[in-house]
Amino acid sequence: TVDHPAIKAKEFSHLFSDEALKRKPSPIKTTMAYFQDPSVVFLGAGMPPGELFPLKTLSMEVPKPPFKNGIADSEETMKATIMRNQDELLFASDVPIARALQYGNSRGQKELLEFLKEHTRRFHRIPYEDWDIITTTGSTQGWDASLRIFCNKGDTVLLEGYTYSSSVEAADAQGLNCIPMPMDDNGIMPAKLEDMLENWGSRYPQIPMPKLLYTIPTGQNPTGCTLSDDRKPYIYHLAQKYDMIIIEDEPYYFLQMDKYTPPEQRSTTSPMNHHQFMNSLCRSFLELDVDGRVVRLDSVSKTFAPGCRFGWLVGSKHLLDNYWNLHEVSIQSTCGFAQTILNGLLNRWGQDGYIDWLIGLRHQYTLKRNCCLDICRQYLPWEICTLPAPVAGMFFMILIDATKHPEFHTTFESNCDLLEQHLYNKCVSAGVLVACGSWFRVPDPVPSPKSATAKSNIVTFRGTYAAVCPEKMKLGIQKFGDTLRREFNLS
Ligand code: PMP
Ligand code: PLP
Repeated sequence: TVDHPAIKAKEFSHLFSDEALKRKPSPIKTTMAYFQDPSVVFLGAGMPPGELFPLKTLSMEVPKPPFKNGIADSEETMKATIMRNQDELLFASDVPIARALQYGNSRGQKELLEFLKEHTRRFHRIPYEDWDIITTTGSTQGWDASLRIFCNKGDTVLLEGYTYSSSVEAADAQGLNCIPMPMDDNGIMPAKLEDMLENWGSRYPQIPMPKLLYTIPTGQNPTGCTLSDDRKPYIYHLAQKYDMIIIEDEPYYFLQMDKYTPPEQRSTTSPMNHHQFMNSLCRSFLELDVDGRVVRLDSVSKTFAPGCRFGWLVGSKHLLDNYWNLHEVSIQSTCGFAQTILNGLLNRWGQDGYIDWLIGLRHQYTLKRNCCLDICRQYLPWEICTLPAPVAGMFFMILIDATKHPEFHTTFESNCDLLEQHLYNKCVSAGVLVACGSWFRVPDPVPSPKSATAKSNIVTFRGTYAAVCPEKMKLGIQKFGDTLRREFNLS
């Protein structure tokens, strides 16, 4: 761990929504401190009795670190049983079932929060002192909560020009203005962003300056690109200058990989040690955050499984207290089953065992990405497409030069979206499904040639290498390549 200089996060109440400012901590929450105190007879909160929860024990079998033969189908396993009551526990840092499934721990179970805080300390050097963690039911909910905390109807959020469609839908449905930020293969382009912010009044006369900057820095969905670390200080500086909160949505942070090299140049590398692994990772905006204006969304959806519905936020205690107030009246807490199971698993693995798991994950995703790109090299018509090789995440994007289509200017009226829809239909008929790039585009409410997503002559499709085996990958890419050749009249 690192010694933190004694600086405190700043106050950001002036950026809170009316709803957030109105919300008060629930008085019943303040009583929970007494719940664990044996000298207090606790009649204060409406808790169903633990002995009536229909579970005595929870048992699981999990892979055992250091996962020598890889994390997939790891043969060595360990068994764990979590007991109902504290005095029966077989493992000291377990969360007993009776507590896990009870009310009153809406920030998260203390053992799990401790583990995640230590994990955060190991991976990110946060420059201020009073940072904290609160559990979420995943990054989807973390983003929705962020919108409620900072935005009133009519407020503005910045998003990458192409982004996770659910994030736009959530903001859009709350009546917010979604403005696309210019991006390239290395993520948000800071100079262009600065230009946009400097000239906001003339560009967007009817739209308020943005309050939130939402970014998916690593292995971006849908583009697969990763925001380079050397752009982050510039972007952080803009957030300071224009007084914005940065929401860093990092579900793919631990799916960072080695750079892609073609098979003929590829050497077999030995797995990284912990030190190499930790040094290989991108830096979080948290590390630049001298003000306490960054909220990081972490999630186990891609490190364990999306059905856990479990994640956490890292940010200043001042900001997270507001999320806590919101959670009290919405999700209440993260599911007790998820918490006690994840806590039991993580504490048995320990911090080092968890890092072993993450290194194993990196290896698996590197294999999947390599396999996919090797196949693409072989089967895609490169005279009309490009494919920036991803270094993180589970997505790749194929960019197609629409002008090379014989009917682009006639049948398709020089309109990329029409051609995209046509190609999509042809692919589905041929038996391969890729997602249309336009589904992820953030439309500019005031389109101009300067718009981040201004029309170019490029049609894009998003694919993933996460979900399928090599044989299916090959079949899918072959079908995709054949469809393009047929449609573009290529031999
Ligand atoms: N509604 C009412 C009327 C309640 O009394 C309670 C629990 N005290 C709740 C909702 C909260 O229920 P849940 O735990 O399902 O969120
Ligand atoms: N954020 C981004 C950028 C994603 O791509 C996804 C999943 O597809 C999510 C959030 C959803 O995460 P969670 O399962 O943690 O809600």
